[in-house]
Amino acid sequence: MERAYLDWNATAPLRPEARAAMLAALEIPGNPSSVHREGRAARKLVEEARAQVAALVGADPADVIFTASATEANALALTPALEQAGNRAPRDRLLISAIEHPSVRAAGRFSKAEEIPVRADGAVDLAALKAMLERGGRPLVSIMLANNETGIVQPIREAADIVHEAGGLLHVDAVQGPGRIAVDMKALGADLLTLSAHKLGGPKGVGALIRREAIHIADPLIKGGGQERGARAGTENVAAVAGFGAAAAAVSANWKAEAAHTAQLRDRLEKGLIAAVPEVIIFGKEADRLPNTTLFSAPGMKAETAVIAFDLEGVAISSGAACSSGKVQPSHVLAAMGVDSTLAQGAVRVSLGYTTDSSELESFQNAWIKLAKSLRKGRDQAA
Ligand code: PLP
Repeated sequence: MERAYLDWNATAPLRPEARAAMLAALEIPGNPSSVHREGRAARKLVEEARAQVAALVGADPADVIFTASATEANALALTPALEQAGNRAPRDRLLISAIEHPSVRAAGRFSKAEEIPVRADGAVDLAALKAMLERGGRPLVSIMLANNETGIVQPIREAADIVHEAGGLLHVDAVQGPGRIAVDMKALGADLLTLSAHKLGGPKGVGALIRREAIHIADPLIKGGGQERGARAGTENVAAVAGFGAAAAAVSANWKAEAAHTAQLRDRLEKGLIAAVPEVIIFGKEADRLPNTTLFSAPGMKAETAVIAFDLEGVAISSGAACSSGKVQPSHVLAAMGVDSTLAQGAVRVSLGYTTDSSELESFQNAWIKLAKSLRKGRDQAA
């Protein structure tokens, strides 16, 4: 049976351009820090990729720091030791939105994070942010560009203005943005921005932190050989970095058409959801959302059972709730939006990509109709 892979927010399939760049890079024996010809060939690949990743978000290549993941990039960014244009006074508060990825919720090297609430529509509450900033200090604020579970896009430009007005710095976890919406660091007003290669068709295990030129991270997480201008020691993973660069270039060239393609399929998918189960709830349906993401629930639905049922029908989707030690926790994202916990326990996420096609949607719809029947049966029996 042909599988339908509809879990692109978890990870995207490797783009052919990335695969080709990685295979070519694996043939180069040199260390990018070596001065000989082999070393210079490896360095060239790393620097080409740096320029491609920078171009994706309208940044200067010199401001890109390659890391081993977006998780690491977030941990690197969230530090009091951010020097700005020579000012060494440490950041003394960390504010994060209530819907951040666990790698931001971990708060980096701050002892704690203050949570900025989100509104019922899933967007960060800017009035609350303003009030929190009025309490003073030298804050670092972290707000994601788009939420990985709901796809809801955050008002980053407005937040940046508020944060800068208060003398703060803004970090943006933009992992879910590229390929779906415009991600321009300057237009967003981000001081620091995180990317992950595998969410945009590059390999897993490589990410980047991009900073505004004036910002210096005075306490790198990994110290040693001085790679990445001292911001992240360790010999670069040349093949992964080259794959990241190639994927970034493909996204820069194609994202508008890809986003239009997924938007059209996503709308079709949502019509099908409602047609089979009129009581279905699509979270953030009226909000500014990524064009590829649908998070939904229905009365009586259990996320873990639904994910398994879809999998057995050949469809890969994911539960909107985080599963740890076998126990499904209601999603902190839906809880922050004030969604009823029983409904949140049923939430599943479908996320599409540029290769998603009608036959995959059809497999999804057939599996959904089957599941809807068993939900109805379960409800009738309970009544
Ligand atoms: N931030 C967001 C919003 C994500 O969706 C993810 C991936 O799940 C990450 C960070 C972590 O990315 P990585 O797998 O590169 O550590």
